[in-house]
Amino acid sequence: MRSLEKSEQLFHLSQETLAGGVSSTLRNVMKPVPLYLEKGKGSRVWDVDQNEYIDYIMGYGPLILGHSNSELLEEVSRATLNGQQFGMQHKAEIEMSRMIVNQVPCAEKVAFSGSGTEAVMLALRLARAFTGKQKIVRFEGHYHGWYDGIYTSFPATVSGGSDSIAATQGQSEQALKDILIVPWNDAQKLEAVMKEHGHEIAAIITEPVLCNSGCIYPVEGYMELIRRLTTEHHALFILDEVITGCRVAAGGSQERLGILPDLTTMGKAIAGGYALSLVAGRRDVMDLISSGKVAHLGTLNGNMVALSAGVATLNILNRNDGEVFKRMESVSDALVEGLGKLMDAKGLPHLINRIGSVFHLMFTELKEVQQYPQFLTRDVAQYTAFTEAALQEGVLLRPSGLWYTSAAHSMEDVEETLRRLEKAINRI
Ligand code: PMP
Repeated sequence: MRSLEKSEQLFHLSQETLAGGVSSTLRNVMKPVPLYLEKGKGSRVWDVDQNEYIDYIMGYGPLILGHSNSELLEEVSRATLNGQQFGMQHKAEIEMSRMIVNQVPCAEKVAFSGSGTEAVMLALRLARAFTGKQKIVRFEGHYHGWYDGIYTSFPATVSGGSDSIAATQGQSEQALKDILIVPWNDAQKLEAVMKEHGHEIAAIITEPVLCNSGCIYPVEGYMELIRRLTTEHHALFILDEVITGCRVAAGGSQERLGILPDLTTMGKAIAGGYALSLVAGRRDVMDLISSGKVAHLGTLNGNMVALSAGVATLNILNRNDGEVFKRMESVSDALVEGLGKLMDAKGLPHLINRIGSVFHLMFTELKEVQQYPQFLTRDVAQYTAFTEAALQEGVLLRPSGLWYTSAAHSMEDVEETLRRLEKAINRI
């Protein structure tokens, strides 16, 4: 067994002064202890007990170039030798917005913030201002950030248009009164909700592929249905690409799957591990910011460190005709194929759903998962035991089942991962 003694001590110590002992509630789910890391390089990290791991958490998604990519670090250092935060304008924000407009299908104008949650807040505000309506349709099992106006838990049975339920104590219930939850991938229910409430609906917001709950793809025609219904009812189609933006293709899922929303939100991978998010979309909607009708505020918006990281990340990703994307794709192909064979050989019923370098592994007898309630039937206890055993063998996985690969993961990493995971499976 690996010693995790120093992580255990630090977790104990941190709880004296750091609320919850971690900086984001989810991080305390790691078993047997939330790890304290000392160093990351490429696809690997090292903890304070000097254990080495192949990492598939990858900072919860942002580390598309891996840990401490030298070129990215050099570019950020060079750019920020001249200042890191002006609260005024600089060229990198223009450069980044031009890159996004060039590579993201729906982007005619762009606005920057620091987190995915803030980007979603702004997108919803724009939609309400543009349409003059208040209600938002969101889907069961999707995650759009943790602010009061969108963070919901899901009723046991979501019938079309269920009311939202606060997901945490202290949340304003008023903030959720205009949020309607609809089961995803159910065309009839969505049509019925739009028929009944379309006149009061400002936007439908959706992840393109349900990365947060099983990497479930939209059923055929579903995105087209959202497009049609929003247009017919004078509502906006918001595609939340905080996970997939600039990750599954230069233009995100909208490029890869051929979807044209009115607005999109991106974060995570767009700046390779620095705090940057954006809303991009139709000029006439984004111009509500230009005209001052919609407020978009933030001390650190357009911050030099984040923007120079964004420009450097996109430059690296886009060079040589997107060669990095192709490499991530083949490494992920090999990993997913190898995992499938390994699980089959060990007699573990499983399902892997994947878009590019993001995939979800679940232990289940189901051959296909198209609905969120099906996703909930997976064997969470067994998977948690698997992640704990993997940690002991030197592979870092999220208990949720979501994996990220990066440009730093190699075929050798894949082979080594499979060797380590074979041992992990033998432990459970
Ligand atoms: N939208 C989606 C689809 C996400 O996956 C997330 C974060 N996982 C968010 C929004 C919120 O982003 P952040 O954590 O940066 O606030």
